[in-house]
Amino acid sequence: MRYLVLSDIHANIEALDTVLAAAATTGYDRVIVLGDLVGYGGNPDAVVERVRSLNPSAIVRGNHDKVASGIEDSSGFNAVARRAALWTRQALSRESLQYLAELPAGPLTIDDSVLICHGSPQDEDLYIFNDRDALRALATASRPVSLFGHTHLPLVVRLVEGTLELVVRATEAENRVDFEPGVNYLVNPGSVGQPRDGDPRAGFAILDTGNHSVVLCRVAYAVSIAQSRILEAGLPASLAHRLSVGR
Ligand code: ZN
Repeated sequence: MRYLVLSDIHANIEALDTVLAAAATTGYDRVIVLGDLVGYGGNPDAVVERVRSLNPSAIVRGNHDKVASGIEDSSGFNAVARRAALWTRQALSRESLQYLAELPAGPLTIDDSVLICHGSPQDEDLYIFNDRDALRALATASRPVSLFGHTHLPLVVRLVEGTLELVVRATEAENRVDFEPGVNYLVNPGSVGQPRDGDPRAGFAILDTGNHSVVLCRVAYAVSIAQSRILEAGLPASLAHRLSVGR
């Protein structure tokens, strides 16, 4: 099975549609979504509708989905994220709000080898930023391959005989990793709608459970259109600016 893995779309329909077109030329069978469909971007309802139309085989909620849909308050957010979340809530249709509110918490298992989560297998809201976070995540993961998002930083790390190794960052258009038996992996496909590794290109991944590989992909999209949508919505200009620098 070839899965298109999407994470942190953040209401960026231009980035999402560009990713879907790029992934269609590569080819995939089903879709997996790692949460944060909305928040920050200017087209939350279009993104939720597009994701629903993809009929994902597995999807988990992100922290922004929880706050935008009203099942969690915004006390954990900074002022910009809170303003965006409140705007998002009123921009979403009743159906979209309900869809987001009913998304399951991670982790979810995909098969004997793969699990998905938004932040960490240990807790959906935890970030995996450093070695300590990664080791803790790997210690609690019930499968050898954990797909996660939340940091918006695409990478693959692995644990070999107690040593953590960075396998790849997503610097090329395609960055392939072949999973080795007996080795545990953390895979972040990067963010579709708000990359933060200094590269403004949208990030996604193709996971192939048949040949035990993952390819982290990057694709350029119309950043200026996404920025216009943010500004037209009256959202903070910083949210538009950061898209062009990938931060
Ligand atoms: Zn996010």
